[in-house]
This record gives sequence, structure tokens and C-alpha cells, in this order.
Amino acid sequence: MPTQFSGGCACGAIRYQCAAPPLAMYNCHCQSCQQAGGGAFAPLIVVAAQSLDVRGTPKRFFTQAIADSHSERCFCGECGSPLFALGERTPDVVLVHASSLDEPDWFKPVADIWTVSALPWANMDRHIPKVFKSPPLLEPEGEVTL
Ligand SMILES: [Zn+2]
Ligand SMILES: [Zn+2]
Repeated sequence: MPTQFSGGCACGAIRYQCAAPPLAMYNCHCQSCQQAGGGAFAPLIVVAAQSLDVRGTPKRFFTQAIADSHSERCFCGECGSPLFALGERTPDVVLVHASSLDEPDWFKPVADIWTVSALPWANMDRHIPKVFKSPPLLEPEGEVTL
């Protein structure tokens, strides 16, 4: 796992640097991630909001997502690449779409989350835990488990 990493959208209008290692990595199966990512789930990297430096202005979309950590989605207004998900109740963390990494190879999910809405055609790794809804790290009042 890298100690710092970078990424951006497909057209280069939005770039970001993260100065700290990820707090966690998940495949999220919530409906908001399915819609934003265009697939059965979204590969997400949880990072501390303060360690993320974004260049460019992502377009923002506010949604009544069931997952509290996903009430705001950020994507490139030029090319449409999904970039970040944020939540009003979890302001300390940002969820970064792993598909936007410069070197996406190191992404390694530790769990499937929001499997309550997982689609029958989603292929899941049987060897990692399944979390019915949000994991503790993304629960507003939950303990931070790394
Ligand atoms: Zn773009
Ligand atoms: Zn999600």
C-alpha cells in the first residue's frame, strides 16, 4: 500500500494528491455507487479529508443516498469520470474512486460493503468479509477501525 498517491479524471481537468496512506479500501454495493460508477459496485479508497489536495473544480451532485457517507458525489464535468463521495455526517473522510488512481493496481478491498443492495450479477471475492451496510469507519458515531 502506498504512503501517498495521486490520480485524476480521464481528461486531466481534475487532479488530486493524497499525502497519507488509505484508511481502508472497500467495494461498495450501494445504489448510489452503482449509479455513479456504472457497474455492480464501486471500488472506494477511504482517505482522511485533510490529506487530500484537489486541483480543478469537480462537479458536485447531492443525493439522498441511503449510505450517509455518500450524500455528495464529485465527478469531472468535462469527461464524467467519478472521483469522490462525501457525506455531511462523515466530514473527516473522503471516499476516492479507485478507478481514478494513476496506478490503480495496488487497490485491494478489505471488505464488500452495503451488500444489502448487492446485485445478483455482482462477482464478489468470497475471501473478504461482507458488511450488510456501512462499516464502522463510515458510521458517523462508529469507532474508527483501521
Ligand atoms: Zn475530466
Ligand atoms: Zn456506496
